[in-house]
Amino acid sequence: EDTSWTLAATSAAHARDRADHTAVICQDRRTSYGRLHRLSNQAAHALRASGAGRGTRVAWLGRESEYYYTVVLACAKAGAVLVPVNWRLTPKEADHILRDSAAQLLFVDGDFLPVAERVRPTLPALDTVVRIDREGDTDPGAGLRAWWAGAPDTDLDPVTGPDDAVVQIYTSGTTGLPKGAVIPHRSFFTLAPAMRQAGLDWVDWRPDDINLISLPGLGTAGTAWFWNGFNAGLTNVVMRMFVPQEAIRLIRGLGVTTTFAAPAMLRMMLDERDAGPEAFASMRKIYYGGEPISTSLLTRCLEVYGCEFVQIYGSTETATVPVCLPPRDHRAGSPRLRSAGKVCPGTGLKIVGPDDRPLPPGEIGQICIHTPGRMLGYFNRPEATARTLRDGWLYMGDNGYLDEDGYLFVCDRINDTIIVAGQNIYPAEIEKEIAEHPAVAESAVVGLADDHWGEAVHACVVLRPGQRLTPRELMLFLRGRLADYKIPSVFHFVSELERNPAGKILRRIARERLQAAAAASADHT
Ligand code: ATP
Repeated sequence: EDTSWTLAATSAAHARDRADHTAVICQDRRTSYGRLHRLSNQAAHALRASGAGRGTRVAWLGRESEYYYTVVLACAKAGAVLVPVNWRLTPKEADHILRDSAAQLLFVDGDFLPVAERVRPTLPALDTVVRIDREGDTDPGAGLRAWWAGAPDTDLDPVTGPDDAVVQIYTSGTTGLPKGAVIPHRSFFTLAPAMRQAGLDWVDWRPDDINLISLPGLGTAGTAWFWNGFNAGLTNVVMRMFVPQEAIRLIRGLGVTTTFAAPAMLRMMLDERDAGPEAFASMRKIYYGGEPISTSLLTRCLEVYGCEFVQIYGSTETATVPVCLPPRDHRAGSPRLRSAGKVCPGTGLKIVGPDDRPLPPGEIGQICIHTPGRMLGYFNRPEATARTLRDGWLYMGDNGYLDEDGYLFVCDRINDTIIVAGQNIYPAEIEKEIAEHPAVAESAVVGLADDHWGEAVHACVVLRPGQRLTPRELMLFLRGRLADYKIPSVFHFVSELERNPAGKILRRIARERLQAAAAASADHT
């Protein structure tokens, strides 16, 4: 336990010890640790001058760049809390976050000014709006630089400790209205020393790594990956947004060694024309997770990327990595490829039944996690916090089980469980089997009300480009792979599935489409 576990302290230490090492690469701009420290000092002084102090919420509605991370670091130094508002969200979701966070300052890109103008009358706490970019200027932070110009670049007196909030990240809203998870500095510091102490290299950040931030830096995984890498003093590569072709170009051109990607991103890169193994030759380790991955995709990844793989299971609330499937378990054909992995050192994992009692291996119940990196709570939501965080244990809202060797198998979100004639069905299991069909790209499975069985299993399926398949062929393919009652009774082919900014398929939208399709076919009969 170290009281220097704050982003401000790390920034000062790097400015002393590795001032010239590149901290961030974005587009063609490189920012050294020394410069990042000075710029964030200036921004922190400007924040102070605008009235931001301990606990002040500062919202960011703009694209990722070195300036975004500079402002997070400035908040860390001024004691303020940065609230990223993902611009990929719908205006309604963005409005909700701006209102809920009670932000006092808002940094906004010109493109999103209309959103800011529209909600401004409903934000009584908001007193300062700063434009990030500037009309006609290619530097994406020209507006910001003008705002803090003239502020001193001297170090500020430390005002935060490891348990103080630094970012407030909204849950992805896969299952409901986003809640603001308040995340302390500590979250970005606990894992690396615990791994080292245990003599494990499952998850490691090395000072000479070139780390590509593939997931949005405005969500937890991207944020955590950036700051853990920053703490290690490595070089983070930031994309304005993830485009598979551009990611491959960066990996090749910069010699990227590590990244964290969603399964869908790994698939998109594989589908690029020039994505042979030589494109990924510099890659040392790929971390992936955030949603289930099919064995066929994972096997393809192992072949083409040709580096170590680590699966991660966690959430916005865990903030750090609590469970991972280490590289050694990534052997083609291994049944462990279906597991999310083992609990990380310094972390607790249990499966509990409805009465909250721990269940033995093999029995399905709710996954609970105890990690020192966990969120402090949901912002202004004591009841939701009390439901999710009990005695330091996070109730994940997922069902799963452990095997005899302590490997975790995630079934699915408890709320997405389909119950057919009293039997539980986990959509993720069915989606993974559907993905085994060579003509299929992906699918979303949901339960719709059924007079006879309570619920019936319906599937939205996307085919790979140029492939054809009938519902009957897919049904026959699933026979023998899944128990009969799990096989969808309706297959609805669509050209694509809606995703959230973290790349996750939104089953609630697939449900609406399936409902509409079912209603339309009922009209015809
Ligand atoms: P919300 O909480 O807003 O409804 P969400 O459930 O997607 O959205 P996140 O914190 O973004 O919340 O993601 C965490 C969830 O993602 C986990 O609870 C789990 O359901 C799923 N998940 C994460 N990693 C994995 C994994 N390796 N395998 C399977 N599922 C995973």
